[in-house]
Amino acid sequence: MLATARTFTLDGLAARAVRVEVDVHRGLPGFAIVGLPDAAVREARERVRAALVNCGFEFPLRRIVVNLAPANLRKVGPGMDLAIAAALLSASGQLRWDAIERVALVGELALDGSVRAVNGALAIAEAAREGGAEAVVVPAENGPEAALAEGVAVIPLGAVGELPALASGDWKPPRPRPLPLRLEAAPGTPDLADLRGQPHLRHAMEIAAAGGHSLLMIGPPGAGKSLAASRLPSILPPLAATEALQVARIASACGRLGALPGGRPFRAPHHTISPAGLIGGGSPPRPGEATLAHRGVLFLDELCEFRRDALEALRAPLETGEVSIARATGGRSLPCHFMLVAASNPCPCGRGEADPDCNCAPVAVQRYQGRLSGALADRIDILAAVRQPSAAEIGGGPGESSAAVRERVTAARSRQEERLGSGRCNAEMTPAEARECQVSPEAAGLLAELYSRHRLSGRAHDRVLRLAQTVVDLAGAETIGREQMAQALQLRRRDRD
Ligand SMILES: [Zn+2]
Repeated sequence: MLATARTFTLDGLAARAVRVEVDVHRGLPGFAIVGLPDAAVREARERVRAALVNCGFEFPLRRIVVNLAPANLRKVGPGMDLAIAAALLSASGQLRWDAIERVALVGELALDGSVRAVNGALAIAEAAREGGAEAVVVPAENGPEAALAEGVAVIPLGAVGELPALASGDWKPPRPRPLPLRLEAAPGTPDLADLRGQPHLRHAMEIAAAGGHSLLMIGPPGAGKSLAASRLPSILPPLAATEALQVARIASACGRLGALPGGRPFRAPHHTISPAGLIGGGSPPRPGEATLAHRGVLFLDELCEFRRDALEALRAPLETGEVSIARATGGRSLPCHFMLVAASNPCPCGRGEADPDCNCAPVAVQRYQGRLSGALADRIDILAAVRQPSAAEIGGGPGESSAAVRERVTAARSRQEERLGSGRCNAEMTPAEARECQVSPEAAGLLAELYSRHRLSGRAHDRVLRLAQTVVDLAGAETIGREQMAQALQLRRRDRD
């Protein structure tokens, strides 16, 4: 007897359709799975056997062959257990399910027959809809997540023993209530009011948030760099509904949707992270920190300590907003549209050369700063020097709240969207767009003077224009004047050193 069922395997963030064919025939009892399965898929044999027996089904003492098609697609993870079990039950005459061809099934089986959650239920439900399935059967725990996909029936299943009732139509579970997508961070998350004093840093953060510019903070330990970085998402505009769905899809594929706090993501990987951990990799590709920070903030603390190859790997994704992974079976791309924020000490001891207590050798300081200006420096838009807050500042009242700053940032962003199109910001302006900014003659003169005096690169020239445009958008003005151009140049002070 032959039976088939439909299921999916995750490939990066995408779910790929897999057809499960089960053949049960006379011969020496055996259970083989073919069709490029990884170790977890092959182990389905043991899980399916125990789950069926423990739910009171009969495990056929015959020769069983499971083929997973298409044969050239690598199948990973335990999510195909449920489809294999359903096809095996119908091939052995224990399940009569006329609609089995029109539904997709995903779920990992526990030995007692209960169905365990899988990664990527949202992408799977969406792919089932695109593939024309009427319904998708998912682990009960994944129900709310899968229900985010509209246009396909979602059937939550608690145990493999519920399949006969579902197949006969005796049992119709209600559609799960979709997981709420929070466009803003939950109340009670860290607020910018906690940042006392630091007017320069606050100004730099506001400009960075308003234009989506990357920001590097240089200052001694304990000056509030990490505190400031972790508050950046709270001054960015709320997520659009489509962006929130993208964020949810990524979190779902990584199995962390339940832990998503809502609002824009904030990722702060440790400096020992590998290139693959940072931008993603492997086969099939797993998303890295850059993709987990999609539509949010990626914070690299101790920038100089990061592996050079990891920072190197981040360059292209920073520019294009996606990670391209080349594979023999075709290229894959993972979205990674994030705002980069980095922090560094000014010298190895952290006090800074200006501090009399700093006894770092000049050559050590030079080497340290050399590393800083290496990998990513030409990708950083704003440089902010952070100093230790004074006792009066720490003892003073709270700073301006995130909500107040976010209001100005959101207004500046909507001006950019009007000009550049939905969802875009100044940091993403193409060189052609940057040159279309309205610049007053005095401002143009100032830029030209510095351009020739400091031999700025073409890239740096465009970056100054983008920054100046953000200063103008925040002020609600139209044209880049001398004042705004001077501010933009000040924010990129590195170019003049
Ligand atoms: Zn030092």
